[in-house]
Parts: sequence; structure tokens; C-alpha cells
Amino acid sequence: MAIVKLDNHLIDQIAAGEVVERPASVVKELVENAVDAGASRIEIATAGGGKTLLRVTDDGCGIPEGELSLAVRRHCTSKLSGGLEKIATLGFRGEALPSVGSIARLSVRSRAEGHDEAFEILVDHGRCEGPRPTALSRGTVVEVRDLFQKVPARLKFLKSERAESAAITDVVRRLALAEPEIRFEIAGPDRTTTVFPAARDMGERIGQVVGEDFAANSVSINAEREDVRLTGLAGLPTFSRGNSLQQFLFVNGRPVRDKMLVSALRGGYADVMAKDRHPVAVLFLTLDPALVDVNVHPAKADVRFRDPGLVRGLIVGALRQAFAESGLRSSSEGAA
Ligand code: ADP
Ligand code: MG
Repeated sequence: MAIVKLDNHLIDQIAAGEVVERPASVVKELVENAVDAGASRIEIATAGGGKTLLRVTDDGCGIPEGELSLAVRRHCTSKLSGGLEKIATLGFRGEALPSVGSIARLSVRSRAEGHDEAFEILVDHGRCEGPRPTALSRGTVVEVRDLFQKVPARLKFLKSERAESAAITDVVRRLALAEPEIRFEIAGPDRTTTVFPAARDMGERIGQVVGEDFAANSVSINAEREDVRLTGLAGLPTFSRGNSLQQFLFVNGRPVRDKMLVSALRGGYADVMAKDRHPVAVLFLTLDPALVDVNVHPAKADVRFRDPGLVRGLIVGALRQAFAESGLRSSSEGAA
């Protein structure tokens, strides 16, 4: 067969397969865009576990009329002016909106800061319409309907509405921990609403997201090895869970789900927790961006460290030491 170049719609659909695994991945991309836009309030509304409707509303900088059609076009981004080495934003690939627009009905309404008018652009399974004037007082509203309805192969693998809703909440909780000063509101099914009000500091946000009882049952972690820093809270071994949903790991401020980091966390608890239990922890790793690659995967959940052994040793060592110190304290208190 002859070699032909794929058409753009097909390219977007293929990219969508990598960026968009389930409704929660769309929420992640849209909320990250809102964070990058400097929003101070972000609202997430969903119906049908995100399969029928996903809506993310922000009060960020907005998109000017002239750039709306670029925003939904592949490889168009406002975020890479400094080159790949200087990424200060969560996004940079310019793939999320065109990918979503190729496998759903997408609407982006926006009013750019300092402009008197708002505009809307629609993308219906790759077919673009607009921009045309609309009403909006500020910021951006992105709506996604009928996600995957025309991609049966994907649709088949989605879980129940409840499970997809839970995955959406999970994504938002992780981003909320990364951005304590932003107010998050999740309107779920059955008129349930979860609110994380703008927090004064990380401690307050951890209380909102993970629970006040966690703060009371954890040790604070503050360790450093060769300019790699680890901070946060680690739950006491007695404060364990039956699953790993309450493990929040961040690398240079981004939520990650990296296997090596999860296993290092586990390693720190190896001697003090039963094998079938899972620790609760919120840990932030900070290091020179040159020593970590966060671009391994489009969804950016995995990271690659220049020196994984160093990072692993830091985490395991810091946790063990923290438990040893807290153990000493509690046993001496017990004796008194
Ligand atoms: P990326 O975030 O990688 O740049 P996206 O496809 O997610 O790619 O978004 C494309 C562009 O659209 C962004 O670079 C940004 O300029 C604009 N954009 C998307 N969402 C928003 C938003 N909520 N507020 C302001 N601008 C946005
Ligand atoms: Mg983006």
C-alpha cells in the first residue's frame, strides 16, 4: 500500500487516545488550563460520570476572539515561549483542546481580560464553528458533551458513572493540593457539591482535602539530599487505609502517580505497616528541573529522574527517621 499523510482530524483522534483515557483525564486538562490562566476560582460540573457533560468554569485571563480558533487547533499553545527547559505552566503541548474536540462536542466560551465582549467557539467531532459573540462576564467556560460517544472502543472500557465520578473527584483533589490558594468547587451528581475554599497555606488545604484527622495523625517530613528536597505530611503507621487513594505525591508542584515514588513511599513504611494496608501521605519533592523529566507521557503522570536511587533513598530514609523520632517521643510520653 502507498504511504499517505494522515489527515488532521485523524491525527487529533490518535492523539486523543493518549491524552484522554477517561472523563477524569479531560477534567485534569481543563482544570490545568484554568490554573495556567491564573484563575482564583475554578468550578467543575459533571453529569453522567462526565460521559454526558463536563464543564469547567474559571475566572482566569480568558482567550481573545482572535485566538479562540488557535486554542482548539493542534500544536497551538501560548505557553512555550521560553522553550522546553523553561516550562512554568502545567500545559505546553497544545494538544488537549483539539484532542477533546475530535472525540466530543466541545464548546469554549471566553472573555479575555480587558475586553468588553465574550466569544464562543464550537468543535463537534473535529468540525469547527465560530467564533461568535456570546454572553460571559469574565474568564472561560469549557463544556464537553458526549465524550467518546463516537469512539465505541473507548466507551466500552469506561467504568460505571459512580467510578468515573470518583476518578474526577480524585483528579481535582490532587490539583487542589497543588494549588492551595485557588478555590475549587465540584458539583457532582445528585446535587452534591464539594468545596475547597481558598486556603491560607498548605496545612489548611491538606485539612480540607485529606481531612483534619490526617493532620492530627501524621508526622511532618522535611528532608534534603544533594539539593533534592522532600516536604509534607506522612500519616502515622496506625493511620492506614485499605487502598492507596490517599497518597498524594508531587514533583515540582505537579501531581504525579509515579511507580518508583509510590514504591519508595511503601518502602518507608515497610517495617511498620502490614502488607495489605496503605499509608496516607502528602509529599512534595522539589528538585532542579534539569534532574527530572516530566514529559515522559502526555498525561504527565509518570516522571523520569536522573538519579532515581537518590530520590528513593531520600524518601525511604526521611520516613524511617520521622517514625523513629515520633516513636521515641510517644514511648517516652507513655512512660511518663
Ligand atoms: P496547552 O495547555 O498545552 O497550551 P491546550 O489545548 O490545553 O494546550 O490549550 C490551548 C491553548 O488555549 C492554551 O495554550 C491557552 O492559550 C488557551 N486556553 C485553554 N484553556 C484556557 C483557559 N481556561 N483560560 C485561558 N486560556 C486557555
Ligand atoms: Mg492544556
